Amino acid sequence: MEEVGTGLLDRLDAMQRVAASAPGGPLLIVAGPGTGKTRTLTHRIAYLCAELNVFPERCLAITFTRRAAEELRHRLDGLLGPVAEDVTVGTFHSLGLAILRENAEAAGLPADFRIADDADRAAARAEAGDDPAHYTALLRKQDLVDLDELLTLPVALLRGDRKLVAHYRDRWEWIFVDEYQDVDDVQYELLRLLSPADGNLCAIGDPDQAIYSFRGADVGYFLRFSQDFTDARLVRLNRNYRSSAPILAAAVQAIAPSSLVRGRRLDPARLDPESPLVGRYPATSVADEAEFVVRTIDELVGGLSHRSLDSGRIDGRSTSLSFSDIAVLYRTDAQAAPIVDALTRANIPVQKRSHDRLRDRPGVAAIARELRHADGLDGSLAARVRLAGQVVADRFAVPTLDGAGTVRPEDVRSAVDLLTPLARRCGDDLELFLGQLATGAEVDALDPRAEAVTLLTLHAAKGLEFPVVFLVGAEDGLLPLRWPGAEPDPDAVAEERRLFFVGLTRAQDRLYVSHAARRVRHGSERECRPSRFLDVIDPGLFERFGEAEPRRPKDRQLRLI
Ligand code: ATP
Ligand code: MG
Repeated sequence: MEEVGTGLLDRLDAMQRVAASAPGGPLLIVAGPGTGKTRTLTHRIAYLCAELNVFPERCLAITFTRRAAEELRHRLDGLLGPVAEDVTVGTFHSLGLAILRENAEAAGLPADFRIADDADRAAARAEAGDDPAHYTALLRKQDLVDLDELLTLPVALLRGDRKLVAHYRDRWEWIFVDEYQDVDDVQYELLRLLSPADGNLCAIGDPDQAIYSFRGADVGYFLRFSQDFTDARLVRLNRNYRSSAPILAAAVQAIAPSSLVRGRRLDPARLDPESPLVGRYPATSVADEAEFVVRTIDELVGGLSHRSLDSGRIDGRSTSLSFSDIAVLYRTDAQAAPIVDALTRANIPVQKRSHDRLRDRPGVAAIARELRHADGLDGSLAARVRLAGQVVADRFAVPTLDGAGTVRPEDVRSAVDLLTPLARRCGDDLELFLGQLATGAEVDALDPRAEAVTLLTLHAAKGLEFPVVFLVGAEDGLLPLRWPGAEPDPDAVAEERRLFFVGLTRAQDRLYVSHAARRVRHGSERECRPSRFLDVIDPGLFERFGEAEPRRPKDRQLRLI
């Protein structure tokens, strides 16, 4: 446990400290990438509890992913010690589930209602056809709640019950929301119900990293925070602790045409005099691009024959650069295969991170159903998962014959492996385990300590940082992504630009951007132009490997915060 008290804010810079120690009332922290959002949020909670006598049980911290919630919880434990357990930390879905569990009867649900899994949903959909009312009735008959309803039902409940609203407002007097730019309509409504307009709501985020509109997120809620909440205080964090000055300059220029932050700037805290420029490689083909990645990694980590973990040097500083320091980012999953092939051929270990939900993996639904229905299973939850896997594997060893079962024994084995860490994290709480599974616990194949190059999509890279980043496929058509026949929509292009910005700002020391002149997309090979997003970056920031590209007009300007 870190020292609590006057020293608590010592590890923050001046603006982080202003944000962490701001008085109550609505507070919006507009913070760019690498400016220490999680550090600021956790220190604010710790400061309020340790210095201003706020009760930890009056605090509710909401994140968007389970991984982020776990990180927040871990850091709060470090700052506050055991009392951190009294802070409610969770995702929007787990919050909705908690409210529904506490008010099941009022919501017309049995106390032991369950969350529908994919098989439940498919069965109800098959029977109900196009009739959404009927669909819900079918679920209810089996005491099931659909995933979306974890938010819509609590909202409906609170809307009709002022006393309940008062109860929760009293209980969670202090609310903190991370990544507020990703809030959607129903999450926003839940927040409005939980927090009065002049409440102690602290929202932190970066509108220029809003990349989830395809899931219903609306950055507009971030932009109009001060209209929604009375006398909202605004604090900006601009000091970036992550990236070298050239990487930051390129990122800021890249986002400028669509920036939603007034006077967007990111000041480098790191001022290494000899930081390398951003590498730019115009590849002739996808294979050439993959070879460039292999060649460069090989140079950075050391020759193939005499590779050693501490042979890398950056800026004349001796670094212990290893494969785990390197990430390859791409727009679409389809881009991974040629890179994985080339790295594997060169004996470079790779790990691919996926954002897939556990419940979408083959075998997982069957195991979850077995766990729920079988009484005979005994032992720890992890042991029960193994047993359930065995039962499922045995059962499917023969039915696969009629074509109904699609679960192969190897799927079941890998499902058990994927479920075991979640089972351990949930202790012996089966309901918690099934709830987490249903609310979208992710397959996390990424091990930060693995001695391997990490491959991941730009979306999956959000929030992460790596000493060396390759951003491949920086081509019009991929970045911005375009579907055949689809009209270019300025809002969609702006979101793609934000995704590009997210990608660039993952890099700490070295950033390489590459594009191929030809690529197979939608079944046919076509010529590709370098991404228009590269046009607005000062050519002087690139260490170029090829010819200059013609400039193209900028995208239109959007709203500013
Ligand atoms: P993103 O928007 O990309 O998620 P972020 O704002 O969440 O970025 P963090 O990951 O919290 O940024 O911080 C980026 C890096 O800067 C981390 O390595 C963190 O430890 C470091 N950092 C943050 N604040 C400070 C500080 N005051 N002093 C030193 N290092 C800091
Ligand atoms: Mg972050």
